[in-house]
Amino acid sequence: MAARADAVSPGTGMWKLAQFFGIVLTFVLLAGLIREPELSLKILWNAVIPLLPAVFLIQPEIWRNTCPLATLNVATGRRVGSRTISADAARRFGAVGILLLLLMVPARRFLFNTDGTALAITIIVVAVLAILLGFVFDMKAGFCNAICPVLPVERLYGQRPLFKAPNAHCAPCTLCTRKGCVDLVPLKSVEQTLGESAGAGRWLLTPYGAFAAAFPGFVIGYYTTTDTVLSAAGSVYAQVGLWMLGSYALIAVLALVLKIPGAVATIPIAGLSIGLYYWFAAPVVTDALSLAAWAPTVIRVAAFGLLAVWLWRAHRLPHAPNGGAV
Ligand code: SF4
Repeated sequence: MAARADAVSPGTGMWKLAQFFGIVLTFVLLAGLIREPELSLKILWNAVIPLLPAVFLIQPEIWRNTCPLATLNVATGRRVGSRTISADAARRFGAVGILLLLLMVPARRFLFNTDGTALAITIIVVAVLAILLGFVFDMKAGFCNAICPVLPVERLYGQRPLFKAPNAHCAPCTLCTRKGCVDLVPLKSVEQTLGESAGAGRWLLTPYGAFAAAFPGFVIGYYTTTDTVLSAAGSVYAQVGLWMLGSYALIAVLALVLKIPGAVATIPIAGLSIGLYYWFAAPVVTDALSLAAWAPTVIRVAAFGLLAVWLWRAHRLPHAPNGGAV
């Protein structure tokens, strides 16, 4: 129970202001995607989104406290009594979130990178879903901690935040999600999501374990495809899927031969994935934003420097003071 009290602190005025601006910026983004799609898509995909992996690595609460979808989910989620979901249900919902991630990110190649209206409609649909699921489940149990397609990545990169940050949404914590809440038990979120399979090779057969092992290939798969037409969607998914299979096979062999538990393996997997991400993203961002020729080197050096600090700390800090199980 101590972990429950320690992990949650009331939202400050600063966080509330940031949440308000998050909602305002979402409306600005939606308007921009409709009226100025080219510029809006360029800023979103090449200036905003590339920052998120680094933010998750540094402290996922920076995003989880300000994400407009979280604000909408909690706005309804805190209003109607207590409706928690079990650990098993959370894992099943989590599998849906993984599926959404695997469908939506490759869809950038044939839809979302170029079609502002399609992206705006998708954002609105997801926002409505976040609001409605707040009526069904307590706090973040129905969306942010369940089917949110960003959650699998928050969980992977947010395993060892570099510093503590308050949870600005949940005061008090209602234990809406009994296991694996990134806000409540950041250091044990992966382990609790893998469940009883976390310590054996069986973690590779769980939805989250399979996702984690395949994720480095997912990153390579996305960046080795190019923007294309809607009719080529099948080939995009096929190429990304093949890279994921290769990644899964390689990591599974290594984990089984070296007998690496899931909660340990996901640390280097996160490091590999984020390293690959910034390696590929640096020249793409440079081209899109017409940055100087040396920008990719600066982005890569900054990303790998941050990653080195994160891995060093992750190695030294298997369990943080507020990372205990509920
Ligand atoms: S378990 Fe639910 S209420 Fe508690 S910190 Fe996590 S999201 Fe918030």
